[in-house]
Amino acid sequence: MRLSIIFITFFILNLGLKAQVDFTSKFEKTNGSETVTYYEGIEYYRLLDEHFASVKLIEIGTTDAGFPLHLVLFNTDEEFDLSVIKNSGKGVLFINNAIHAGETDGVDASMMLIRNLAQGKILKDSSKNIVVAVIPFFNVGGVLNRSKYNRVNQNGPSEVGFRGNARSLNLNRDFSKANTKNMWGFWDIFHKLDPDFFIDTHVSNGADYQYTITLISNQKDKLSPLIKPLLEGAIKPYMYDYMEQKQYPLTPYINVYGVTQPDEGLTEFPDWPRYSSGYVNLFQTIGFITESHMLKPNKERVMATYHFINGLADYLSKSTQTIIEARAKSKLLVAEQKEFAIKWELDDTKSTKINFKGYEGSFTKSSVTKQPRLFYNRNKPYEKWVDYYNFFKPSVVVSAPKFYLVSKAWDDVVLRLKANGVVTKTINHDTTISVSAYRIEDYETMKNPYEGHYPHTSVVLSKTVESVKFFKGDYMIEVNQPTNRFIVEMLEPKGEDSFFKWNFFDPILDRKEHFSGYVFEEIAESILNENPKLNKQFRALQKDSVFASNRYTQLDWIYKKSPYFEKTYLLYPVFRIEH
Ligand SMILES: [Zn+2]
Repeated sequence: MRLSIIFITFFILNLGLKAQVDFTSKFEKTNGSETVTYYEGIEYYRLLDEHFASVKLIEIGTTDAGFPLHLVLFNTDEEFDLSVIKNSGKGVLFINNAIHAGETDGVDASMMLIRNLAQGKILKDSSKNIVVAVIPFFNVGGVLNRSKYNRVNQNGPSEVGFRGNARSLNLNRDFSKANTKNMWGFWDIFHKLDPDFFIDTHVSNGADYQYTITLISNQKDKLSPLIKPLLEGAIKPYMYDYMEQKQYPLTPYINVYGVTQPDEGLTEFPDWPRYSSGYVNLFQTIGFITESHMLKPNKERVMATYHFINGLADYLSKSTQTIIEARAKSKLLVAEQKEFAIKWELDDTKSTKINFKGYEGSFTKSSVTKQPRLFYNRNKPYEKWVDYYNFFKPSVVVSAPKFYLVSKAWDDVVLRLKANGVVTKTINHDTTISVSAYRIEDYETMKNPYEGHYPHTSVVLSKTVESVKFFKGDYMIEVNQPTNRFIVEMLEPKGEDSFFKWNFFDPILDRKEHFSGYVFEEIAESILNENPKLNKQFRALQKDSVFASNRYTQLDWIYKKSPYFEKTYLLYPVFRIEH
């Protein structure tokens, strides 16, 4: 009896304590002037996890900083196994925050969103139709590198993290190459969840204008014929109306910098695979990047971001089946696709008009540099129709082969394909296969380092047929998969963010063997004697005085034509078996 009284008393006390738990976020407590630290943010979600059965905080993978990568899930079914969620028939909204750790709006907005969902304050009954997954901090190293001085032009919060991660890499250039542990964790989550909608939250730099929030969405010309009309005809109109009602009107991301003024015309952001939205697009996930404006107060920016993610969750919860079906059919189409555009360029012959709310810009004399400086006059707001260049056209299109073949020696590439859901087969015995191959005829390399690389551009290829020896365990990748776009864009050397571009195949770009001129003389002579046609070509070249005056150039010409010359030099080691 005495024990039960103690138990009941404890139970009541415990209930009382729980009722008193304060779920107000730091952003709310400070009236929008501060954002959470890494530890405060994780603790907040741990608290929600403890008090709401619909919320779960889990760790998936790690980050370059050595801290775990966290994921927060909201699911009214209380199911938190990602592979079960993926096939549950629910719509999945995936939100990524603090990829640039100085841009904290989504961090605070997501905390309020998950709490309000858990407390039943938003979406109500329709919340059962969706699962919301949130990475609270993607760039953990950047978040830990907190300071008042990390964002020179940003109007709050008082302290924020830094753009680069623990190894000074910009994670929003890492989606297709994955040079960070953070990205391997993201890939894992992304493919386990297979989200319908994805949002990456940012705070923009650049021109000044009236809008608190701007939007990048998937570039429409790159979308499947089923997703394009949904995004352009239904989702975006809904979100533009929704945000207008919330007093945070949207506009497309203002892709101009420095001296150009937005009213001279806007161009759409190129949705390349290295960026989050371009990456998710390869897998038929509908991607959005919110860019709130750095000069607007933090409180307004966070609320604008909050309303956007709330609105998108609302849309998905009411149109779940339509979105799921469009994505499923799009994947089937991609699996059957034969031609792939792997490089795009802006079509500057086509534009649409948008009603843009800007500030008049003019140039005044700088008191610092004494040179003209751009000045946006906030006392002179304007609203006018401006040209919006939002059409892209393919500049490189390739026919996919039936198979790509690649030696297991290039396992850093194969591991990346597998991590993205690409199914590979292995060759079961040593064999020689006649394959079509690329030779790298020319390319340029960036002079300055970029994200730990010296990327290659302006790639010129020739195609040859080669007999290539493969060994048991080498890989065959059949181009008949829902992941086809990733396969082709990464493996074709001309792809905008191909593995070739990002230096994965650089060892083929220099020669390993050379001849010694003084002993090659005799071999060169016999090669010429045994090949009258070659001899004739060589003697003709000797009429060129520059060629004739350089002994090494002449011998090297013969060496390159001889069977001694290494076959792997400039031979791109991903081979094609054509249809
Ligand atoms: Zn950013």
